[in-house]
Amino acid sequence: PKLERLQKIIANRGAVSRRAAERLIEQGRVKVNGEVITEMGYKASIDVVIEINGQEIVSDNQKYYFLFNKPRLVLTTMDDPKGRRTVAEYFEDIPARVYPVGRLDYDVSGLLIMTNDGDFANFVMHPRYEFFKTYQAMCHGSVTKYQINKLLKGVTIDEDYFTKAIDAKMANYNKEKNISIVEITIAEGRKHHVKKMLAAAEIDLAKLMRTKIEFLEIDDLQVGEFRELKAHEVKQFY
Ligand code: URA
Repeated sequence: PKLERLQKIIANRGAVSRRAAERLIEQGRVKVNGEVITEMGYKASIDVVIEINGQEIVSDNQKYYFLFNKPRLVLTTMDDPKGRRTVAEYFEDIPARVYPVGRLDYDVSGLLIMTNDGDFANFVMHPRYEFFKTYQAMCHGSVTKYQINKLLKGVTIDEDYFTKAIDAKMANYNKEKNISIVEITIAEGRKHHVKKMLAAAEIDLAKLMRTKIEFLEIDDLQVGEFRELKAHEVKQFY
């Protein structure tokens, strides 16, 4: 990446003016990749980690969008007081603080969009737009047609909330293991939405994975991996 003077990089990230940045550098209050820099002509790559008074500053004009395959047992939050693993760990080398768009439960794996674009995140999360999300549910036993139909016709969750699947089907049944794979698409996203729908249809869920968000598919994205969204993919949402 491009090398630039430190005060210019700081100013470009929108943190403070170039003059103010020079003062902060002089005062020893600026760290680059964890090291205090006081040398005035110091040049750095524009994507270095910069801290001012111990606070990391990131660019607020460079937008990042990633499609992440979240593993199970990773929280969709940026930190956890109990010390559990979070999605933030996977994005430590990204020169911006990216946040999850929406949620996936701790014990659910699969697709999650991560971005530092707040407008995009709010848009995609807004219930009005009802983006389709598809899940693969590994279930104990042989799920029946009657149960699949229940998901399609609608069930009541959260006491009084009626909801139906956009689509639901049996994708596979493993007779030896007595395990069914159900594929379900929903347009809503209440807390534990799919889990509650399956429970309402008396389907015994073992593992849940999100495989699709609208047109974005999991493809060969491995668990714990992410890829950058292409510009046309970002545009397709807006
Ligand atoms: N439905 C759930 O129950 N959990 C998720 O994480 C997502 C959808």
